[in-house]
Amino acid sequence: MNFEFTDEQKELKAKVRDMVDKHVLPRAAQIDSTSEIPWDVMKIMADMGLFKFLIPEEYGGSGKGDLRALELSIIREELSRGSCQVDAIYALNGLGSYSITHSGTEEQKRKYLPPIAKGEMLACMSLSEKNAGSDAAALSTTAVLDGNEWVLNGEKIFASNSKVAGVIVIFATVDKSKGANGITAFIMDPKVSKYEVRPFQVLSPHDIGEIILKDTRIPKENVLGEVGHGFRVAMKTLDVLRTSVGAAAVGLAQYALDITIERVKSRVQFGKPLAEQQITQDRLADMATEINAGRLMTLYAAWLKDSGTRKSVTLESSMAKWWCTEMAQRVVDKCLQMWGGYGVMMDYPMQRLYRAVRAPRLYEGTTEIQKVIVARELLKLYPDPVKA
Ligand SMILES: Cc1cc2nc3c(=O)[nH]c(=O)nc-3n(C[C@H](O)[C@H](O)[C@H](O)COP(=O)(O)OP(=O)(O)OC[C@H]3O[C@@H](n4cnc5c(N)ncnc54)[C@H](O)[C@@H]3O)c2cc1C
Repeated sequence: MNFEFTDEQKELKAKVRDMVDKHVLPRAAQIDSTSEIPWDVMKIMADMGLFKFLIPEEYGGSGKGDLRALELSIIREELSRGSCQVDAIYALNGLGSYSITHSGTEEQKRKYLPPIAKGEMLACMSLSEKNAGSDAAALSTTAVLDGNEWVLNGEKIFASNSKVAGVIVIFATVDKSKGANGITAFIMDPKVSKYEVRPFQVLSPHDIGEIILKDTRIPKENVLGEVGHGFRVAMKTLDVLRTSVGAAAVGLAQYALDITIERVKSRVQFGKPLAEQQITQDRLADMATEINAGRLMTLYAAWLKDSGTRKSVTLESSMAKWWCTEMAQRVVDKCLQMWGGYGVMMDYPMQRLYRAVRAPRLYEGTTEIQKVIVARELLKLYPDPVKA
């Protein structure tokens, strides 16, 4: 067992932390107050080669044949220390591109992955619909083949990065009666297909909206994977990316703890700093321990994926996702309490973290759905009792 990062991983972590300290944290309040993409930060991240970690080497990235879950976790933990919006944009590029990486044809990969690796193009993955959230297989957007094009009709919701994406991996059914086996993934290119994006606001702003498809035409060759295999494409992507949601939650919780420790060391009430009160110390100990546990959980799940030790990392990935996002919520709430009234003042940082920490418990599968998955995977590990 080796708990050390490689020299390259240590360097990566230090580089991202330095970039976040210099270019993100000083203006995090502004970045996280609007759904506008901070393009200058994206440019810095692109110049640093951060988007390359999402893409295999053959297509201009730096992943060895696949997305590197460990590096993705390292990067997301550091980015979310700075801004949940910056982290979300980065992660969504992974969500949008990874389906192409594992299920795309050679031609699709050559066309769409290099610009994502260079940071020239943002990606989006659009699965959810109004009546198909947790039960994504119930989606009702239809795809009908008409000559050399698929014609899509329906409405997607919660499509992050949808306004700015240069490529959208979108899911529709070719035969609703087949349930999950009718779902097909498509690569929708805004330069080729016509659709409408209706943005809306969420608690912690980022670019998110509905995608309205009205006779939207997608070239036949833009089917991603096989017709009817779209649900598998989506699940394979989420399986890997979920671990990194856990890592982002750890980063957010760590930042909340860092600034709260500074606060309780300097805030004097009853003649001494709050940090000297035992009840404060009890909370600090709880939070530091929980963050440490969460970090180990995400890094383990990421290592498991990268090492290829196990074919499926679904169990560990879902565990890391639900536990770390719930943990981050507990930590941020406790931290805010320790800031007293300043915790909810808009000029202070805690309210921003409090808003940011909520959505990760919902997206890429809610906590409840992760627990359904964990229990399902767990039960598989135990043989059925022999029937009498
Ligand atoms: C900020 C944000 C960004 C998002 N980005 C994207 C994106 O880029 N692309 C995309 O496709 N989607 C995205 N989503 C959608 C997200 O994945 C869904 O919101 C999520 O899967 C839950 O679906 P729902 O909102 O329809 O809730 P519902 O499915 O209606 O669930 C409501 C509640 O019921 C619970 N529930 C549901 N089923 C069960 C069950 N079997 N047992 C127990 N409890 C259950 C849920 O856990 C939840 O608490 C995003 C969501 C948010 C909030």
